[in-house]
Parts: sequence; C-alpha cells; structure tokens
Amino acid sequence: MKVAIIGGGASGIICAVALKKQNKNINVTVYEKLPRILKKVLSTGNGRCNLTNVYSSEAFFRGDSSFVSFALSEYPPEENMNFFSSMGLILREEAEGRVYPMSGQASSVVNVLLSQAQSLGVKIITDTEIKTVESVGNGFVLNGNIKTDKLVISAGGSAAKQHGTDGDSFRLLESLGLRIIKPTPALTGVIAEKFPKSLKGVRNICTVNLEIERKSLYKEKGEVQFNDYGLSGIPIMQLSGIVGSSRSENIYVILDVLPDIKSKALSAYILLIKKENPDKTAEEFVCGFLPKALGNHLLLLCDIKKDTLLKDISDKKIKQFAELAKNWRIKLAGVRGFEYAQVTAGGLDTNELNPQTLRCKKYKNLYVTGEAVNVYGLCGGHNLQWAWSSGRLCADAILKEN
Ligand SMILES: Cc1cc2nc3c(=O)[nH]c(=O)nc-3n(C[C@H](O)[C@H](O)[C@H](O)COP(=O)(O)OP(=O)(O)OC[C@H]3O[C@@H](n4cnc5c(N)ncnc54)[C@H](O)[C@@H]3O)c2cc1C
Repeated sequence: MKVAIIGGGASGIICAVALKKQNKNINVTVYEKLPRILKKVLSTGNGRCNLTNVYSSEAFFRGDSSFVSFALSEYPPEENMNFFSSMGLILREEAEGRVYPMSGQASSVVNVLLSQAQSLGVKIITDTEIKTVESVGNGFVLNGNIKTDKLVISAGGSAAKQHGTDGDSFRLLESLGLRIIKPTPALTGVIAEKFPKSLKGVRNICTVNLEIERKSLYKEKGEVQFNDYGLSGIPIMQLSGIVGSSRSENIYVILDVLPDIKSKALSAYILLIKKENPDKTAEEFVCGFLPKALGNHLLLLCDIKKDTLLKDISDKKIKQFAELAKNWRIKLAGVRGFEYAQVTAGGLDTNELNPQTLRCKKYKNLYVTGEAVNVYGLCGGHNLQWAWSSGRLCADAILKEN
C-alpha cells in the first residue's frame, strides 16, 4: 500500500512515523515544498517549542471544538509525551501545564522526529510542492504523475507563509469539491482604530474583555503589549480569532489596566493621595502605579494635562480617570494579517470528515490532519497537541482500514 502525505509539518511527520512504527512494510512518502521538513516547529514557543499542554482538552479549542474530542481522548497529552519520550526526547512541564523539551530548544523536537522518520524508512521528498490532486479510481494522482493509494493532506493552514503554509490545503481540498470555512488569522494582534504611537512598547498586566455588539465574548487577565497598530500579548492573541471571523463593526476590547484594585478602592486611593500630596503633578502620580506612557495617555483621554497639580484636579475628573483605568474601551478595526498569525481559524468543514478516523466522507482514501481542519487551539501548546493527536489518529485509521 502506498501512502502519500502532503506536508512535512507537525501532523504530517508524526503520521508518517506512526504509520511506519506500526507497519514497516507500508510505503510512506512525505512531500514537502520547502527545502526542509518541520521548519515551523523550529520557531514554535519562541524557539523552545511548547509541544503540548497537560490540561489540553476540547475547552481550549475554537472553531468546531467538539471535533477534537475523539482524537484527544485516543491521544491525550500524556500519550503524546510518552511517544516523544520513547523516541528519546526528555520533556519538562512549566507554568499552566505547558510542556517543552528539557533542552529548551525546538530543534530537539525536530531532530528526534527527523531521525525517527529516517530510521523507519519514511521517504521524505523536499522542494516538492503538490499543486494538483486528482481522484482516480480509488486512489489519487498528485501533480499529474505521482500515484498513491491513500492520501493524507497535512499541508497546514494559511498562517505564517514563511514556513510554507499559505493555504495550499484549502485550495487542494476545494479542488476535490470539499467545503472550506473561510480561513481567517488567529492567535495574532488586533488593530485598534486611532491608536497612539506613544504607547508602542508598553507592557502591562490587564484584564481584557472582548465585546462584540455589546455582548461580552471573552475575558482573560494577562500581559497586554501595546504596539503602534494596536494590541498584542497572550490574552489578546487568544481573542483574535473571534475578532478575525466577526463581521460586526462594533468590536471593542475593554481594558482594566489595574485589575488588582477594585474600582471604588481606586477612586478612594486617588482622592487620598490628592489630599496628602496636593502638589504632586498628575504625571508623577500615575507613574506610581502605571507605566509612564500608559498613565499619560489615560490622563490625556480624561483631558488632564500631565503637569497639572493634583490639588487643581476636580474630584469628578479623578473619578473619571479611575473609571477609565478600569474600563478603557478601545474600538477595533480588525486583526493583523496571516503573516503575523500563529494559526488559522476556519478551514475544512468538519462535516466532511469522520472525527474518529479523520477520513473524508466523500473519498474513502483521503484523510486530513492538523491545522487544515476547522479547529484551532488557544495559546499554550494546544495546536501542536492537535497536530500530534490528529496525525497519530489518522495513521491508526489508515492501518485499520487497510
Ligand atoms: C511562530 C509560531 C509559533 C507557534 N508556536 C506554537 C507553540 O509553541 N505551541 C503550539 O502548540 N503551536 C504553536 N504554533 C502553531 C503550530 O505550529 C501549528 O498549529 C502546527 O504546526 C500545525 O501543524 P500542521 O501539521 O497542520 O501544519 P504545519 O506544521 O504548518 O506544516 C505544514 C507543512 O506543509 C507544507 N506544505 C504546505 N503546502 C504544501 C504543498 N502544496 N506541497 C508540499 N508541502 C506543503 C509546509 O511547507 C509545511 O511544512 C505556532 C505557530 C507559529 C507560526
């Protein structure tokens, strides 16, 4: 039996390894358009590869999140961790259940997978872009001349095209008549309307609340990074997928820039400081509890000049400042593009696939894994967890159905 896998990324390579581990006689070929496989994995987790999360479950997924349940129950995080350990990769759990290689280098993950694939006899053909897929009889023909009995499309999504992924999975699947939910960037920054350049580089722990059409859709506390285009940082990346796929024009991020102080306590504190330090300037005062540029910007939004003395600021204005610090509404104009996104929201409609095999309902020898499917995980190792689990589940299904 010949199996062709399009895409030498996380899910494609683990699928190939799992196939050959269980049956050495299967002919498995991975076609990769870049000069090397697993290029994206090298840059994951800021070069450290957050390869799974011990708490990973359906709750950490978006899109058709229930679709991941079966794969995650067959191959939960500890199962994938054991798989990597059995190949010689030692892992370490860090905050919030994030798992990294002990070496602190994503290259360890890549090397372990590459040497395993090579020693098992997986054929890896790099610098080969698959541009066409035709269904012929029960099998497929790729690029007009590569015949295969079974085909796995593992060519990823549209995010980060510098790593080879610019939507080929979707084009190939569409050419086979399969339905694609519009891909949009996720796990990326959001663009704010009229955002001041002076805030670029500021970082501050905030509670972030995403509101679309006055409905609160996501809330998380964490470090927000302020940029010239708008906002980024983990809590913002987590909600970016919702922003990217929304058609509403009324999208707001509401920041609480002082999440550890209750609203009333903040006003009372400011009034007390005013009483005890009447000759402090507004700027000196805000620098005591906020990054300078952020404090000054909030003063500006309240029409308070930064050199105004506290004694000259009315109690009403002070309350207004406290209210703004707790509820700063920032109107969004959209999300940053695919080139800045870590993953893709949207993708192959899960109705086209059987969740227990990842086999396509319309073509009995076609399988799809990883980011090409309409699910994505939040930050924290969930996307690679899905890539490993979907790749391994697909390998099992191919072997069982053979
Ligand atoms: C900067 C960055 C950091 C990330 N950090 C993390 C992290 O720490 N933890 C985490 O869980 N997730 C992380 N992710 C997300 C994660 O890397 C992906 O979700 C995951 O790699 C998807 O696996 P995949 O197998 O579906 O596709 P990919 O790993 O994207 O692989 C697809 C492969 O297919 C190849 N290909 C595409 N089209 C063709 C074609 N026509 N012919 C042949 N080959 C083709 C591509 O070159 C690529 O090698 C990060 C993503 C980025 C961009």
